[in-house]
Amino acid sequence: MPAPAIVTGYGARLTVDLGALIRNWQALDKVSGGALTGACVKADGYGLGIVAASKALYAAGARFFFVATPDEGLAVRAALPDSYIFVLNGLYPGAAPLYVGERLMPVLNSLPMLEEWLVACLGRNEALPAALHFDTGMNRLGFRLSETSVVKRMCDEVGYAPQMVMSHLACADQPLHEKNRTQLALFTSVIAQFPGIPASLANSAATMTSRDMHFQMVRPGIALYGGRAVNGRRNPMVPSVTLEAPILMIRDGKTGESVGYGATYTLTRDSRLAIVALGYGDGLLRSLSASNQHAGGRAFVRGHTVPFIGRVSMDMCAIDITDLGDDIPVPGEMVELLGPHVSVDDQADPAGTIGYEILTALKGRYSRTYVDSSAQPAAS
Ligand SMILES: *Cc1c(COP(=O)(O)O)cnc(C)c1O
Repeated sequence: MPAPAIVTGYGARLTVDLGALIRNWQALDKVSGGALTGACVKADGYGLGIVAASKALYAAGARFFFVATPDEGLAVRAALPDSYIFVLNGLYPGAAPLYVGERLMPVLNSLPMLEEWLVACLGRNEALPAALHFDTGMNRLGFRLSETSVVKRMCDEVGYAPQMVMSHLACADQPLHEKNRTQLALFTSVIAQFPGIPASLANSAATMTSRDMHFQMVRPGIALYGGRAVNGRRNPMVPSVTLEAPILMIRDGKTGESVGYGATYTLTRDSRLAIVALGYGDGLLRSLSASNQHAGGRAFVRGHTVPFIGRVSMDMCAIDITDLGDDIPVPGEMVELLGPHVSVDDQADPAGTIGYEILTALKGRYSRTYVDSSAQPAAS
C-alpha cells in the first residue's frame, strides 16, 4: 500500500531551492577550469529528488550525470534525453541490453563487468561507451592496479576505446591526507597507459582543493547540494534545503523531571519545551537525541538557535525554548530543522555523521516544494 498522500498542508515541509544547485554547479564549473563538470545525482539526487535535481543541473549547464543504479539512470534518461549518464555501480549481470537501449554508460569496475560489456559490443559490432574504473586505494569498486595490463589487453584485442578512465579518492575531504598524493600518483600511472582517453578523479572536495586532480572531468556531488565537502574549512556553497516542522504544543517542565524515552535528559532548571512534529520516522536521525552528557541536534525558532532535549522519537522531538523568555512560539508555528540557520553539517556533527547522510535520510512524510531562487533578481 502506498504511503498516505500529503494533502492537508498541516505537516512538515521541505523546500528545495533548485537555484542553489544551479549556482553551486556553476561555481564548481568555474573552479574546474578547462575540465568538464559532471554532476553526481545518485541516491535520489542526495535525497532532494533525482529528476528535479538533474533538470536544474542540466539547466545550469551539466551534461554528464553520475547515478548509482540503472533505475536511477532510467529516471535521468526519461527527464533528460540528451544527457550522458554513467552508472557508478557498474554493469549489473544481464543488464547490458537495458543499458544499450537507454544509453546508460556503465562504470566497469571488475573484469567480469568488462568481459560482459565487450561481449555486448561484439554482439552489436559497436564500441558502446563505458568508463573504466581503477581502484587506487578504496578497495571498494574498480580494477586492481595489477589487473591493468589484462584490462588493456582485453580492450586492445577487440579494438575497444573506453569513454573515460576514472578512480575515486578515499580522503579528499582531508586535503592534507597523504593518501591523496598516493592515489594521484597511482592514477597518473594508470592513465598514462590509456593515452587520449579522458580521465576523471575528483569528487567535490578534490574539485574545490586540488587543481592537479581535475583532469578532463570532475564529478562533484555533495557540494552541489550545499553540503560541506572539505573538513575544517568554511563551506562556500549555497544551502539548498529548508526543513520545517510545526510545533504541536508548548509545555513547562520542572527541575528534576526527565524528558522523553529512556529518561536520558533530566531538566537542570525549570524549562519551557516546544514539542515539534518531526521525528526519526521523517528522517530526523535518532542520533540527534540529547542527553545530559551529550548535546544533540538544534533548531531555529523566533530568531534563536535552540537545542534538542531528550530523545528524538518516531514522530516528534522536543526543543528547549526557555531562553526565548516571554517570546513564546504558538502551536502550529514552524520551526527550522534545516535551512539558512541550521546547516546540514550543523545537524550532522552532533549526530556523529556527515551532511550526506542528513540529506539522503530525508523522507516522504512532508510536503516537498521546489523553488528557484535564481529565477528572481539576485539580492545584493
Ligand atoms: C559519490 C561519488 C562522487 C561524488 O562525491 P562527493 O563527495 O559527493 O562530491 C564522485 N565519484 C564517485 C565514484 C562517487 O561515488
